[in-house]
Amino acid sequence: MSRPQVLFPLFGGLETLAGVGPKTARNFTHMDVEKPRDLIFTLPYGGVDRGLRKTVKGVAAPGVVTVEVTVGRHFPPQQRGRPYRVEVEDAETTFQLVFFHARDDWLKKQLPTGQRRLVSGKLEIFDGVAQIVHPDHMVPLSQAADIPPFEPVYPLTSGVTLKTMTKAVHSALERVPELDEWIDGPLLQREGWPGFQDALGQAHGPTSQADISPNAPARLRLAYDELFSHQVTLALARASMRRGKGRASNATGTLQAKVLAALPYKPTGAQNRAIGEIAADLADDKRMSRLLQGDVGSGKTLVAFMALLIAVESGGQGVMMAPTEILARQHLNSLQPLAETAGVVLEILTGRDKGAGRAAKLAALVRGDIQILVGTHAAFQKDVEFKDLRLAIVDEQHRFGVSQRMELGAKGAVADVLVMTATPIPRSLELAQYGAMDVSVLDEKPPGRKPVTTALVSAGRMDEVTKHLQKAISEGRQAYWVCPLVGESEVSDLTAATERFNHLRAVLGEGHVGLVHGQMAPAEKDDAMARFVAGETSVLVATTVIEVGVDVPNASIMVVERAEHFGLSQLHQLRGRVGRGAAASTCLLLYQPPLTESGKRRLEILRQTEDGFKIAEEDLAMRGAGDMIGTAQSGLPQFRVADLEHQSALMELAQSDARKLLHDDPTLKSRRGKAARVLLWLMEQDQAIRLITVG
Ligand code: ADP
Ligand code: MG
Repeated sequence: MSRPQVLFPLFGGLETLAGVGPKTARNFTHMDVEKPRDLIFTLPYGGVDRGLRKTVKGVAAPGVVTVEVTVGRHFPPQQRGRPYRVEVEDAETTFQLVFFHARDDWLKKQLPTGQRRLVSGKLEIFDGVAQIVHPDHMVPLSQAADIPPFEPVYPLTSGVTLKTMTKAVHSALERVPELDEWIDGPLLQREGWPGFQDALGQAHGPTSQADISPNAPARLRLAYDELFSHQVTLALARASMRRGKGRASNATGTLQAKVLAALPYKPTGAQNRAIGEIAADLADDKRMSRLLQGDVGSGKTLVAFMALLIAVESGGQGVMMAPTEILARQHLNSLQPLAETAGVVLEILTGRDKGAGRAAKLAALVRGDIQILVGTHAAFQKDVEFKDLRLAIVDEQHRFGVSQRMELGAKGAVADVLVMTATPIPRSLELAQYGAMDVSVLDEKPPGRKPVTTALVSAGRMDEVTKHLQKAISEGRQAYWVCPLVGESEVSDLTAATERFNHLRAVLGEGHVGLVHGQMAPAEKDDAMARFVAGETSVLVATTVIEVGVDVPNASIMVVERAEHFGLSQLHQLRGRVGRGAAASTCLLLYQPPLTESGKRRLEILRQTEDGFKIAEEDLAMRGAGDMIGTAQSGLPQFRVADLEHQSALMELAQSDARKLLHDDPTLKSRRGKAARVLLWLMEQDQAIRLITVG
């Protein structure tokens, strides 16, 4: 299948557009614009009101004005480097037009004394005199139509002026063909959206500020087109996943019962619900592709383990992948006793397994002697084969993109897939990122959790903090001390952490303080963690390696140094390391004054709430979608038009619409289905196009 011919003009070179030569075309690439198609989806971010006024008198300067004037005297510069001035008079006052490096004869031709002209530009007061430097427009009255009453303002880059941009956009718009409507008729009508071509025309030809707002119908429609095409891709991925033959893994309940009986607590309602949803998926012979979302401490590990036990109960194997070595070991340590209770063989496989030891584990996996494997990426390497892999779990913490996740599904050709995220994410982002999956949410925390008291402390009060810490550890409490990544290099960050480590050792006593960081040898890292878990050390100084998932219930103090350098969600994760045990917990956010406005607001939000979803919404509002989860690594697509902060409701609509379209027309053969195919090409959803091709 190849690109429909009607779209060719939009996918040609930029040089084919009016006013764009090879050099401008190259400059455009700096703003990610490589073809006419990219230009039509680059919308103006603002607009300038050039409505005609009678006079500049009373206008708040600086500000853009458009007035009719009579040209007065010319004042050519008396010295080199001085500007050329032309006096003009409007209905009530006189002011000056100012030009630097202008040619006299050109100016005399443009502005003959005594003639009427329309001028538009930014009015400024300089030395008490009102003036416009280099007016944007100067035309005879007969050419009034050349000055747009409302002029759109585009994002620009060096070498691309507004004039070039506007001209190129208009040239590109002329190539937009008439296309069949891909939006569901009733939806289009209900929302009152224009057709695709009209929407582009309106979005690029705003007549007021309202037309620029994210709520303008034309912009909503184009945003919807973008989100819808993305959701069709995800829905296709979901459909192809489900079409793939799966295995029915039926729980007998025997192993689960043994584990539940041995647990010192009962699963929460939310945990039971999630386990039920997963069990139903596993029992079905369609492949599972499910996301388990839960705030820190909501108990995802138990849910995962129950799911793995179902794989074992039905005679197969399961694997769970963690993002770091520390977490993989922690899963091993917490799950091993439960596995033993159930009589299940659980092993770990990470990058540290080498040579004969690794070979022996691989052989045991192929024989089926290892029933549950936990590990890092190493557990997913090509040569790791299972006898009968039924369930793959990724404890991913946002480190995998959509396509990587799809590759993962290819591992056990028929294995069910469960992905777990630790950071709550706003619904709109969840849909963008995980729209292909079904979702279970743990919206309830295990009972008895005490709220964590959060305080903001200026770094100047460091001594008080260490005194407080000294007292706390003398009472048997444990603390994390997180040093941030602030320096230019990992080395300098490390120096900061090491210095803090030495300082705390000096104050609190040698044996009381441990250190972990990313550059440490694996065995040292394990050792430091193990000593902290065992309570041999009271304070663990760490770089953010401890951010995700570490679980030491006795730790009840979290100190974060330079907290203003962390993102909201990251701080929430860090704080989530405490408040897990019986003791009341404290989180001290140390900051270096003065705080920026946004720094202050971030830390305040943390102090006010522990609700991860609320924090995530705030994070999204403050940072924008891309920054929030790091677009590059998250697989979250870059949207050109859609604005996830302000148009979040569209995403939900797009998802249900996309799923419905594929339900009614799985191969996109209907008239609307065909129109949707064109949209996929237009939106460069290559992945989707491949999926329809194979499907
Ligand atoms: P997360 O969702 O952050 O991965 P964990 O699975 O690490 O959370 O669970 C956090 C802690 O809560 C662990 O110590 C775990 O043993 C405990 N826990 C899990 N479920 C329950 C429950 N239903 N009741 C009490 N404690 C629980
Ligand atoms: Mg976890």
